[in-house]
Amino acid sequence: MGGTFDPIHHGHLVAASEVQAWFDLDEVVFVPTGDPWQKSDRDVTGAEHRYLMTVVATAANPRFYVSRVDIDRAGRTYTIDTLRDLKAEMPDAELFFITGADALADIFTWRDAEELFELANFVGCTRPGYEMDPAALARIPSERVTMVEIPALAISSTDCRERKRRGEPVWYLVPDGVVQYIAKHDLYTTSPTTGSTTG
Ligand code: ATP
Ligand code: MG
Repeated sequence: MGGTFDPIHHGHLVAASEVQAWFDLDEVVFVPTGDPWQKSDRDVTGAEHRYLMTVVATAANPRFYVSRVDIDRAGRTYTIDTLRDLKAEMPDAELFFITGADALADIFTWRDAEELFELANFVGCTRPGYEMDPAALARIPSERVTMVEIPALAISSTDCRERKRRGEPVWYLVPDGVVQYIAKHDLYTTSPTTGSTTG
């Protein structure tokens, strides 16, 4: 499961758990992005913080793991590199790349889209209120892509960051350990655009 995880929240965890059960997956590997080029419009929290929050959030689940392949690779993160690296680590594994339907809709803007479908199956998680563009859906090879409805969890990392910035709680939106990690390192208290301190 790829994501920025800035921070990881219960939407991600429910999605991972649902997809794990749906496909009876042996494990779900969370892969925090390195330099997320799709989000170059804002300052993303350092990879080590995002990696550690993901570890904290997933530690108790025996099927959940976290991979450093994207954060340890220099340069921008491309899904094709993620899949190649995971395949090299686990040559016999059948890979399912789990992502949000929003990200899936952009799949043909990703690098080496054809090879992506050779390396993995794709699972698109639909969120409350999200309708996938039928034109985008039509271009996706249906035998390699499955859409999975995730129970209504209107949580996003953006909302969690904005809540922190406004001094509002994120308890129960993110795991307890992540609430504490955010507080310990004073994350998300400064404005993303100006870098100045608010509230
Ligand atoms: P941001 O608000 O910064 O974009 P996000 O909450 O979308 O963050 P990402 O790290 O971008 O989190 O998420 C990784 C993937 O998980 C994305 O493809 C996203 O669509 C999906 N996802 C995020 N939140 C949910 C949710 N509540 N339910 C299901 N899928 C989700
Ligand atoms: Mg997102």
